[in-house]
Amino acid sequence: MSKPEHVLYLKEVSRSFQQGSTEISVLKGVELSISRGEVLGLVGPSGSGKSTLLQIAGILERPNSGKVIIGGISCWDENDNVRAELRQRNLGFVFQYHHLLSEFSALENVMLPQMAAGKSKQEASKRAEQLLSEVGLGGRLSHLPGELSGGEQQRVAICRGLANEPKLLLADEPTGNLDERTAFEISGMLRALASKTGVALVIATHNSGLTEEMDRVVRVQDGFLV
Ligand code: ADP
Ligand code: MG
Repeated sequence: MSKPEHVLYLKEVSRSFQQGSTEISVLKGVELSISRGEVLGLVGPSGSGKSTLLQIAGILERPNSGKVIIGGISCWDENDNVRAELRQRNLGFVFQYHHLLSEFSALENVMLPQMAAGKSKQEASKRAEQLLSEVGLGGRLSHLPGELSGGEQQRVAICRGLANEPKLLLADEPTGNLDERTAFEISGMLRALASKTGVALVIATHNSGLTEEMDRVVRVQDGFLV
């Protein structure tokens, strides 16, 4: 059941893909609720449906059946505008590859989503600088993504994901492209940010070493969460 303390509730979510004449059933009735500030690890082998689940949780992709409830609102019963607003107010994303805009500085990359949400340039810049300083990049504000290391790029991407103060940050293999030591650093940083700001995290990973310190770990297996 959806409760007020849930930042996200997935109710009997199913998703399949048509592949030629066969239908591949990826999610077969997934139930998942995430509480405020919770850090959830999402594990499962490649191809098990982790990314599909995150896309659905992020209201980027529509399930074939079931409900996606954010802040008590059933997202797919609303129109595109309401969904866009729900996304902007509640959700942040971090991907395996940073997807930063290469022509813009670290600071600007963290400013842009805030300006899209209606903040002034000055406000956006102030928050971006604060976030980047918190993750140790106060000295890299005007660097372009290409001038940063992989770990630094991913820290900028995390700041961008947090820029509009989401209630839930969805991270799809955020350390998948990093060496092991950097992966641990980034993963520890995510947890620290969660406990400091109260943002809930869902982190898809197939690195079982990273899930040890998470509040809860669920596995995607044969279309269900176990
Ligand atoms: P994971 O992130 O755990 O590696 P995915 O969610 O990316 O898994 O994929 C789960 C399954 O769904 C895979 O078999 C994949 O081929 C299939 N799939 C994902 N997206 C699509 C799509 N847009 N069209 C067809 N099949 C897809
Ligand atoms: Mg994936």
